[in-house]
Order: sequence, then structure tokens, then C-alpha cells
Amino acid sequence: MTTGMGVRIGVLGATGRMGCAIIQALRQAAGMTLTAAFERPGHAALGRDAGVLAGGDELGVVLTHDLVAAMPDFDVLVDFTRPEGTLAALAVCALHGKALVTGTTGLDPLQKQKLVQASQQIPVVQAANFSIGVNVCLSLIEQAARVLGEDFDIEIVEAHHRHKVDAPSGTALAMGEAAARGAAIDLNRHAVYARQGHTGERERSAIGFSTVRGGDVVGDHTVLFLGDGERVEIGHRATNRLNFAHGAVRAAAWLRGRAPGLYTMRDVLGL
Ligand code: NAD
Repeated sequence: MTTGMGVRIGVLGATGRMGCAIIQALRQAAGMTLTAAFERPGHAALGRDAGVLAGGDELGVVLTHDLVAAMPDFDVLVDFTRPEGTLAALAVCALHGKALVTGTTGLDPLQKQKLVQASQQIPVVQAANFSIGVNVCLSLIEQAARVLGEDFDIEIVEAHHRHKVDAPSGTALAMGEAAARGAAIDLNRHAVYARQGHTGERERSAIGFSTVRGGDVVGDHTVLFLGDGERVEIGHRATNRLNFAHGAVRAAAWLRGRAPGLYTMRDVLGL
């Protein structure tokens, strides 16, 4: 039952950084309405209005922990939480035939396997990066690597804020994978993550990674294709979290009514 409200969206982890960004993005999305908001049991904000908690006007949606009771209230659940939250929600959604958009990272192999299994019963979109711009870049990078061929050296430079604890970023690695796919080589065998001292000449088929850390950089990525006499640069600059939220909202709109399956942003964007 969706008449009048368009696609009815439930948000899990509604008070988190991404949860709030999703609620903000939904306010601007035509044909989509926040109709349910969830947090883990015992959360201090349960019972309060999700719109107000996300930093805006009241939306008349009360924050609850009870996913099962609220199942009739939404069509698609959007989840940016923690793996245990994702897995619990996945089981309930599979039982009730509800679609799931999930951006939670850090799932272990067994949790990933459960996600794959559940996607035989319900439609699921999963992505490590929901930014529409990044996903377009991945497609362009693969194409560029395929066409430019081995005459161009591939180097990936990324910059993030001083609090980031891992390197290179998951997005830089995804860009490396896209370049390797285009060049028809194995990233694991050709990636160069550090250079120091007498490195010798560059291996022609290497894919090099360089990492910059500092300040409040949300996320900058540039893939360089360096040839003789010319170079191509494909870059992306994230300026805030709303770009992930807009991508996830677009995925939710695309997902409603799909056949069961595990989809990615490539499917959503038709890349
Ligand atoms: P956050 O800590 O700000 O928010 C997480 C929220 O999930 C919190 O409100 C928390 O209370 C809630 N939560 C935790 N366990 C829960 C459970 N068991 N049940 C229900 N709710 C639960 O984190 P964040 O920055 O919003 O990121 C959330 C997740 O999304 C992380 O895994 C992060 O890596 C990922 N992320 C993915 C993308 C992407 O594009 N795929 C972008 C940004 C963040």
C-alpha cells in the first residue's frame, strides 16, 4: 500500500550520522516518504520524533526499536548501522518480504554469506560506497583502463581527514579493482602500496596507490593514467555525507518491486 506517499521508507540507525543524512535526503526526494525509524533497543531517543532528531521539523514518525511490529509501515528498509544490526534486520525483512538497502561496512565472510542467502528471498542493494559520483567514476575508470591500455601507467591518489584509521581507502581499492578489470590484470598481483628508497624503475603494469592524511578532508580520489605526451585524470571530491544518502535514497526508489537478488549501485545506475 503506497498510494499518496510513494515509496515508504524505514530507516534503521535513524539517529546515526548516515541515518540523519538519509532522513534529510528523503525530505528532498520526490515520491518518497519516511514512514518508520528504528534504533537499537535501549537507545536514549526511543519515543521521540525522527525528523526532529535528524535536525529538522517534526515528521510524525516516532523512533522505535520494534522492527517486527512496524513491518506493515514501510516498503524498503535503509540500513547504515553495524553488522549485527544489519543481520538482525535482514532476517526480519526476509521473513516479511521487505526490500533492504544496506551500506553497513565490516561484514565478516559468514555475515556476507547470510546476506547472499537472504537475497534469494528479497531484493537487496549493497554498496561500500553509495555516492553516485564515485560509482560513475568506477565505470569511467574501467573504460579508460581498457581503452588506454598498457601504454599508460595507472596511479591512484587519495586524501582523507586526520581521523581515518585505514589506508588506502575502500573507495581507492574499488577504483584499483575497476582499473585492473579494465586492464584485464589481477590487482592483488600488480598493486604497489608504498615506495621508499631505491625502488628501481616502475613496473609497467603496476597500479600504484598514494595516501594523504590530514585536516577535515571528507574524501578525495584521483586516478591518473600517465602516458607519453599526455595524461588523463578521473577524480572525485566528496564534500559531505549527503552524497552517500542521495545515492542510498535513489537505490531505495529503484529497489521497490524488484525481483529478489543482490544488486549493486552499478545495477541501480544502469552502468
Ligand atoms: P554512526 O555510528 O554515526 O551510526 C550508526 C547508528 O547505528 C547509530 O545510531 C547506532 O545506534 C545504530 N546501531 C548500532 N547498532 C545497531 C543495531 N544493532 N540495531 C539498530 N541500530 C544500531 O555511524 P555512521 O557514520 O552513520 O555509519 C554507519 C555505517 O555505515 C558504518 O558501517 C559505515 O562504515 C557505513 N557507511 C557506509 C557508506 C556507504 O556509502 N556505503 C557511507 C558512510 C558510512
